[in-house]
Amino acid sequence: MKLKVDKDLCIGCGACQAVAPEVFEIEDDGLATTIVDEVPKEIEEDAIDAKEGCPTSAIDEVTEEDENTEETSNNEE
Ligand code: SF4
Repeated sequence: MKLKVDKDLCIGCGACQAVAPEVFEIEDDGLATTIVDEVPKEIEEDAIDAKEGCPTSAIDEVTEEDENTEETSNNEE
Protein backbone atom coordinates (compact mmCIF):
# COMPACT_ATOMS: atom_id res chain seq x y z
CA MET A 1 0.00 0.00 0.00
CA LYS A 2 0.96 3.60 -0.49
CA LEU A 3 0.12 6.45 1.84
CA LYS A 4 0.35 10.19 1.56
CA VAL A 5 0.03 13.05 4.01
CA ASP A 6 -2.17 16.01 3.17
CA LYS A 7 -0.11 18.87 4.51
CA ASP A 8 -3.11 21.19 4.44
CA LEU A 9 -4.69 19.00 7.12
CA CYS A 10 -1.62 17.91 9.09
CA ILE A 11 -1.07 19.77 12.36
CA GLY A 12 2.33 18.22 13.04
CA CYS A 13 1.28 16.44 16.21
CA GLY A 14 3.80 13.66 15.56
CA ALA A 15 1.41 10.82 16.36
CA CYS A 16 1.99 9.07 13.05
CA GLN A 17 5.74 9.18 13.48
CA ALA A 18 5.39 7.77 17.00
CA VAL A 19 3.23 4.88 15.78
CA ALA A 20 5.05 4.10 12.53
CA PRO A 21 8.48 5.76 12.44
CA GLU A 22 9.49 3.59 9.48
CA VAL A 23 6.78 5.23 7.40
CA PHE A 24 6.30 8.78 8.67
CA GLU A 25 8.66 11.56 9.58
CA ILE A 26 8.16 15.14 10.72
CA GLU A 27 9.95 17.38 8.26
CA ASP A 28 11.69 20.70 8.80
CA ASP A 29 8.41 22.48 8.14
CA GLY A 30 6.99 20.73 11.22
CA LEU A 31 4.56 18.63 9.20
CA ALA A 32 4.56 14.92 8.53
CA THR A 33 5.56 13.22 5.33
CA THR A 34 5.93 9.63 4.20
CA ILE A 35 9.50 8.41 3.91
CA VAL A 36 8.72 5.26 1.97
CA ASP A 37 7.02 5.06 -1.38
CA GLU A 38 5.50 1.66 -0.79
CA VAL A 39 4.73 0.59 2.79
CA PRO A 40 6.38 -2.80 3.40
CA LYS A 41 3.88 -5.56 4.31
CA GLU A 42 5.41 -6.20 7.73
CA ILE A 43 4.75 -2.64 8.91
CA GLU A 44 1.45 -2.16 7.11
CA GLU A 45 -0.49 -2.63 10.34
CA ASP A 46 1.46 0.13 12.07
CA ALA A 47 0.92 2.38 9.09
CA ILE A 48 -2.82 1.75 9.15
CA ASP A 49 -2.88 2.41 12.92
CA ALA A 50 -1.14 5.71 12.27
CA LYS A 51 -3.55 6.56 9.49
CA GLU A 52 -6.56 5.80 11.68
CA GLY A 53 -5.02 7.56 14.66
CA CYS A 54 -4.35 10.82 12.86
CA PRO A 55 -6.50 13.43 14.64
CA THR A 56 -7.15 15.41 11.47
CA SER A 57 -7.44 12.48 9.03
CA ALA A 58 -4.54 13.92 7.06
CA ILE A 59 -3.25 10.51 6.01
CA ASP A 60 -4.77 8.99 2.92
CA GLU A 61 -4.18 5.80 1.04
CA VAL A 62 -3.00 6.34 -2.50
CA THR A 63 -4.89 4.03 -4.82
CA GLU A 64 -3.80 3.10 -8.32
CA GLU A 65 -6.75 5.07 -9.59
CA ASP A 66 -5.45 8.20 -7.82
CA GLU A 67 -2.07 7.74 -9.40
CA ASN A 68 -3.56 7.35 -12.87
CA THR A 69 -5.70 10.42 -12.41
CA GLU A 70 -2.70 12.42 -11.33
CA GLU A 71 -0.61 11.36 -14.28
CA THR A 72 -3.18 11.18 -17.07
CA SER A 73 -6.26 13.31 -16.71
CA ASN A 74 -7.66 12.19 -20.04
CA ASN A 75 -7.94 8.48 -19.56
CA GLU A 76 -11.65 7.76 -19.48
CA GLU A 77 -13.10 4.68 -21.11
S1 SF4 B 1 -0.81 12.14 12.95
FE1 SF4 B 1 -1.78 13.37 11.32
S2 SF4 B 1 -1.74 15.48 12.09
FE2 SF4 B 1 -0.33 14.30 13.36
S3 SF4 B 1 1.68 14.62 12.36
FE3 SF4 B 1 0.80 12.74 11.51
S4 SF4 B 1 -0.27 13.37 9.65
FE4 SF4 B 1 0.09 15.21 10.87
